Amino acid sequence: MQEHETLKRDVIIIGGGPSGLSTALHLAKDFPHLAPRVLILEKAHYPRLKLCAGGLVIDAEVILQRLGLDVSEIPHVDADSIHFDFEARGLNIRVRKRHALRIIRRDEFDNWLATKAESRGIEIKQGVTVKNVQPLDDDVIVETDQGIFHAQVVVGADGSNGITRRCILPNMPVHTARVLEVITPSQPPSIFNVIARKAKTDEAIPSINEEIASGNNTPRNDIHGEGAAYFDFFPVLTNVAGYVWDFPTQVHGEAMRCWGIYDTNILAKEKRAQLKEPLAKEMSRLGFDLDNYEIKGYPIRWFSPKNQMSVPRVLLVGDAAGADPFLGEGISIALGYGALAAREIGEAFQRGDFSFGRYRQRVLRSALGQVLITRWIVAHIVYLLKWRWFQILIWRILKPVVVLLAWVFVLNWGKRMSSTL
Ligand SMILES: Cc1cc2nc3c(=O)[nH]c(=O)nc-3n(C[C@H](O)[C@H](O)[C@H](O)COP(=O)(O)OP(=O)(O)OC[C@H]3O[C@@H](n4cnc5c(N)ncnc54)[C@H](O)[C@@H]3O)c2cc1C
Repeated sequence: MQEHETLKRDVIIIGGGPSGLSTALHLAKDFPHLAPRVLILEKAHYPRLKLCAGGLVIDAEVILQRLGLDVSEIPHVDADSIHFDFEARGLNIRVRKRHALRIIRRDEFDNWLATKAESRGIEIKQGVTVKNVQPLDDDVIVETDQGIFHAQVVVGADGSNGITRRCILPNMPVHTARVLEVITPSQPPSIFNVIARKAKTDEAIPSINEEIASGNNTPRNDIHGEGAAYFDFFPVLTNVAGYVWDFPTQVHGEAMRCWGIYDTNILAKEKRAQLKEPLAKEMSRLGFDLDNYEIKGYPIRWFSPKNQMSVPRVLLVGDAAGADPFLGEGISIALGYGALAAREIGEAFQRGDFSFGRYRQRVLRSALGQVLITRWIVAHIVYLLKWRWFQILIWRILKPVVVLLAWVFVLNWGKRMSSTL
């Protein structure tokens, strides 16, 4: 029988993804005396797999820079523009003198972030799975497969399916998006087939432009320049309250493409849509056969202004609290929650009051909260008004207005975070 250990810490963070690591890194930066009293419990071992397209928006980089971290230290691919399309035509966002989206692999990113946290005095126990969280008046009991831990404060950073939320808020309604992801080579296989054909028969190889003109394939990054990232909202017409994406990425240094489909499930009550079909359709339009690749799925729990985020002594961050409902973007959001939770915890220790009754208000009033509320509204407008003419209107006709609104209300919130903590 396994010998159980009992451990006490001031702060136990459950989950060592971006939200948990950001909470720890912000505690170490803003309340350095607390750093040696923080413990992260992570069920996996780094570098661990996490299904995610790995698109980092500017705000993620801004928050990391403020922590003194430079994400360019790890392998990445930069997309110079982001296209928001409806049926392959729409608007295009570029950022002056820099990339629009940086794409990392989550095994590498989370491993890197964990190493940074450890180098700043944060203890991480890997391979420890939390089974139950029980807040008491003067203590929180954290039961794990390695024994029982006690903490003054617990942070639930254990993602969309996390145990913390299920223990502390078992009856709270949950809004969950369905997401499928596929990794393929960066170019459609038929380009390679053409080369193979040439090798076998000595026939002349048509140029890529001739291939495109023939309608066989449309390798996008040859049309719009290297490494653009695409969101196409055409599946809205078939009751998918979301979009298909197509990003450049790399796996072990090899150029690849990451595809996927996101469905908030906002329209699921009317009719639960098939997700594979629109993804297969988009991939096939660009010369890829979905059946040739491994398809993986994972849910994203999204933010609603009604979501509860704490009980006395326990806070939720990242997907456990709620990611962006509009695009399912959650890395920058997770990093932002970490900054807010660290401030809340630091002040709670100063006051000796761990009720966390105002944490939700702190989140909603912050630049992060404002952007989450905006995206919650946008998601309901864009996905509920699913008429073809409306989608054409917003993505193609009102382009300048939409880009301006996005720039002011949806993007660029990371810079405003420090003044709204
Ligand atoms: C297919 C897909 C594509 C996505 N693409 C993007 C994208 O391009 N850009 C973007 O910004 N966001 C994207 N997201 C969302 C993003 O992945 C999440 O929002 C983000 O990972 C949230 O971070 P987190 O730290 O809250 O949770 P997680 O990253 O899920 O981390 C939770 C951690 O907790 C650990 N854990 C869980 N349970 C326990 C337990 N019981 N005990 C101990 N440890 C536990 C897990 O092992 C994990 O390490 C995508 C999501 C999916 C599913």
